[in-house]
Amino acid sequence: MSESSVDLCERYRVRPGSSVDLAAWDPAEIGEFRSPKQGKKALKRYRKTLRKLQDRFYAWNEKALLVVLQGMDTAGKDGTIKHVMRGVNPQGVHVTSFKVPTPEELAHDYLWRIHKAIPKRGMIGIFNRSHYEDVLVVRVHNLVPPEVWSRRYDQINAFEKHLSENNVVILKFFLHISKEEQARRLQARLDNPEKRWKFSKNDLKERMLWDAYQDAYADALTRCSTSYAPWYIIPSDHKWYRNYVVGQILTETLARLDPHYPEPEAGLDTITIS
Ligand code: ADP
Repeated sequence: MSESSVDLCERYRVRPGSSVDLAAWDPAEIGEFRSPKQGKKALKRYRKTLRKLQDRFYAWNEKALLVVLQGMDTAGKDGTIKHVMRGVNPQGVHVTSFKVPTPEELAHDYLWRIHKAIPKRGMIGIFNRSHYEDVLVVRVHNLVPPEVWSRRYDQINAFEKHLSENNVVILKFFLHISKEEQARRLQARLDNPEKRWKFSKNDLKERMLWDAYQDAYADALTRCSTSYAPWYIIPSDHKWYRNYVVGQILTETLARLDPHYPEPEAGLDTITIS
C-alpha cells in the first residue's frame, strides 16, 4: 500500500466521545514504510504541496489555522516545527511558545494570553505548548485546586468552539513518545555537547511524574477532542515518522479548505507596463 492511500487524519484522530487509553496507542509505529529514507522522501513531497497551499491560504485571507503542539519533554515539539514547516513562507507563519505564566498573565484568566496569540486570517499559528498546560502541568503540580482545573475542559471546548465559529481552523497534535525513548533522548542531550544546552535538571523531576502526566494527557485528549477541534495522537518515537504524519495531516487539512487566490481586479488584461 502506498503511504498516500492511508488516511492518517482518520487513523490518528481521537474520535469525539471516545475514551483514550494511551497504552493502546503505539508510539513506535511507522505505518506502511520500510525505512526512514522512504518516510523522509514522502515528507519532502508533502512539504512541496504544503508550501503551495500555504501561499494560497495566505492570499485567500478567509481563515486562520491554529496548530497546537503538546507532548512530554523531548517529544519533539521544536523538531516538528523545524522539519514540517521548512520552506514555508515565514511571513505567513507565527510560532508562539508558552512558558511559565508571567505575573501579568497570572493576573488574568488563563485563556487571556492564549486568545491574544490566536492567528489572524491568512496566518498559520503554531502553539509550542498551549492552554492545555492549564490542565496538564497545573493539574500534575496542584497549582490550582481540582475544582478549578476540572472545570477547564468544558471552558476549553467552549473557547475552541467560539474560535472555530469565527474562522479559526484548529488542529491539535499530541506527540506521543515512550518513557524508554525519552530516556534515550535525555541521555543524548547529556552526551552531545551541541545538545547539552537543551538539558534541564528539571526534566528529570518531570520524568518522575510520568504516570501522572500520562493520566492528565489521557483526560485532556478524551474530553477535548471535538468535531471542531480534533486531537491527533502522533506516534513520535521515530522522528521522521512523526514529521511525516504531522506534515500529511496539515497538508490534507489545508487542501480540504480549498484556499484560492482572490479574483484579480477587472481590466488587467488590457494593461501594458511602459
Ligand atoms: P520547553 O520545554 O517548552 O522547550 P521551557 O523549558 O522554558 O520550554 O519550559 C516551559 C515550561 O513552562 C514547561 O515546564 C511548562 O510546563 C511550563 N508552563 C507552560 N505553561 C504553563 C502554565 N500555564 N502554568 C505553569 N507552567 C506552565
